[in-house]
Amino acid sequence: MAAPAIREGVRPRTAASEPSTQKQDKIQHGYCKPDLRDDQIVGGGKERAVTHYTPGIVITEKGRESDKRMDTHQTWEFGGPWGVTAMMTFFPMLMYYLWICLWFYDGKLVHPTSFSDVVPFFQRMGGHIYHDAFPTPRAFIGYGGLMLVEFVLAWVVPGFWQEGLPVPSLNYKTLWYKCNALGCLYLTLIIAALLHISGIYPLTQIIVHFGEYMTVSMIAGFAVSLATYLHAVLTNQTHRMSGSFAYDFFMGAELNPRIGPIDLKMWAEVRIPWILLFLISVSGALQQYEEYGYVTPNMAFMVLATGLYINACAKGEECIPQTWDMFYEKWGFMVIFWNFAGVPFTYCYSIVYMAAHPPSYYRFSTPMYIFLYALLIFAHFVFDSSMAQKSRFRMQLQGTLKVRWTFPQWPWSTLKDPRYLQTEHGNALLIDGWWQFLRKPNYTADWTQSFLWGAIAGTHSIIPYYYSMFFLAVLVHRCSRDFERCERKYGKDWEKYCQIVPYRFIPFVY
Ligand code: NDP
Repeated sequence: MAAPAIREGVRPRTAASEPSTQKQDKIQHGYCKPDLRDDQIVGGGKERAVTHYTPGIVITEKGRESDKRMDTHQTWEFGGPWGVTAMMTFFPMLMYYLWICLWFYDGKLVHPTSFSDVVPFFQRMGGHIYHDAFPTPRAFIGYGGLMLVEFVLAWVVPGFWQEGLPVPSLNYKTLWYKCNALGCLYLTLIIAALLHISGIYPLTQIIVHFGEYMTVSMIAGFAVSLATYLHAVLTNQTHRMSGSFAYDFFMGAELNPRIGPIDLKMWAEVRIPWILLFLISVSGALQQYEEYGYVTPNMAFMVLATGLYINACAKGEECIPQTWDMFYEKWGFMVIFWNFAGVPFTYCYSIVYMAAHPPSYYRFSTPMYIFLYALLIFAHFVFDSSMAQKSRFRMQLQGTLKVRWTFPQWPWSTLKDPRYLQTEHGNALLIDGWWQFLRKPNYTADWTQSFLWGAIAGTHSIIPYYYSMFFLAVLVHRCSRDFERCERKYGKDWEKYCQIVPYRFIPFVY
C-alpha cells in the first residue's frame, strides 16, 4: 500500500501507538522534554514496531462523540446577544472616530472639551463623516470593482486543488479548495498598475479619499452578512445555531458557503482584506512620491510588511483549510465585516498617519531602521514557517501533502519525522519545530509584526498602535476560546499536551 505519510517523514499511527493508560503514573513530561516512554508520543526518531498501517487521520468513536457535541451550540461567546449587538454598533463608530482623529486632529484622541461641547462634538464628527466619508461613485467603483475582479479571477484562474480536513457535520467528508490566490494577486497588481499608469484610476485616490472607501466597505460588510444569513436560513443550511437572531447573525449561520468552485470564506479571508491593505500602502507610497519626490523608509516598510503578509497568505493558501477559521468558524458578520472593512481600514493607521504628516514626524536613525526591518523579517519568518509546520504536519498525516514551489520558501517550514502526541480523539498534536516551545508561536510572531506596523510611525500618536492593542485582545480571547474548544475536544490528552508545552505566547513567562 502506498504510504504517503512515510514518504513525507511522519511515522504512521500504529496499533502500538494507540493510547494506553499503562505506565501513565510513572511518566513525567517536561518542557520540550516529553517522556518518550509514553505510548502516545510518536515520531522524532522514536523507534516503534509498525504492526498496522492506517492511512489518513482516523477519528475514533470517542472523537466522533466529542465532535458531535462541538457542533451544537453550547456556550455564549462575546457576551452573548447583547455583547455582539454592542460590538456590531460600536466597531463602525470606532472606525470613523479613529480615522477622523488621524486625518483631521493630528492623531490626537479628541473628545468634548466640556459638558456643553457634547452636542457640538458629535455634530463635528457627523460633519466629517458627511463631508469626507460619504459613499461616492468613485469609492463604489473602486471597492466594488476590486471585489468583482477578485471574484472573476478566483473563478477562472487555474489553481492548485487542496483537500481540506474531514468535516464532522458532513459525516467526515473532506471539501476541496481551489488555491489560486497567488496567480490572482499577481494579476491584480498588473491590473492596478495599468489603471494607475494610464490615469484611468490613480491609486493615490484610495488614501486621499480614505473615508469614502471605508464607508463603502462597511456597507458591503453589513449587506453581505445579511445576504448570507438569509441564504443559509432560507435554504436550510444552518449550522450550530443558538436561536438568537443577533448572535447567529454575528457568528454566522453557514459553515462552508460556496459559489461554483469558490469557497466564500477562504476567498474573503485572503483576496479582499490583505490585497486592499497592500493597495492602501502602495497608495500611501505613491502619494508621498508625488508630494516629496521620494518615499520614506517608513512608508516603504509598510509596503514591504503588507506585501509580505498578502504574499504569505496567497503562497500558503493551501494551509488555510487546516486553520480554525475554516473548519470551525462560520461565515457571519464577525468574519465578513472584519475581512471586508475591519482589516483593510484599521490595520493601516500608520499609513494614514504618515500620509497626513510630514516625514520629520516619524524619522528614525539608520541603525533604528536596520533594527526595525530585521525584526520584521525575523517575525515574519517565524509566523510563516510555524503556520506551515503545523498545516503541513496535518497534511502529512492525512497523506495529502504536496509542497508547491512559491516564493519565498522559508527554511524549517516542513518538519521531517516530527514528534507528536497521538490523542484518543484520532487527531495528533505537534510537539516539534516551533510548536515544542509554545502553544501559539504563530500568534506571538503575528503580534510582533502588528506592533512593528505601528512603531514605524513613531510615537507622536497612539492611534497607529491601535492594530497591535486590538490584536493583542483578539489573540488572547481567540486563544482562550480555542483552548476551551480543544479541552472539550481532547479531554485529558489536552492536559498532557499542556504539560509538554506549558507556555502559550512567551517561553517561561506566559
Ligand atoms: P492556529 O493556527 O493556532 O490553529 C488552532 C487550531 O490548530 C486548534 O484549534 C487545533 O485544532 C489545532 N492545533 C493547535 N495546536 C496544535 C498542535 N500543536 N498541533 C497540531 N494542531 C494544533 O490558530 P488560528 O487558526 O486561530 O490562527 C491562524 C493564524 O491566523 C495565526 O497566525 C493568527 O495570528 C492569524 N490570525 C490573524 C488575524 C488578523 O486579523 N491579523 C485574525 C485571526 C488570526 P484541531 O481541532 O484540529 O486540533
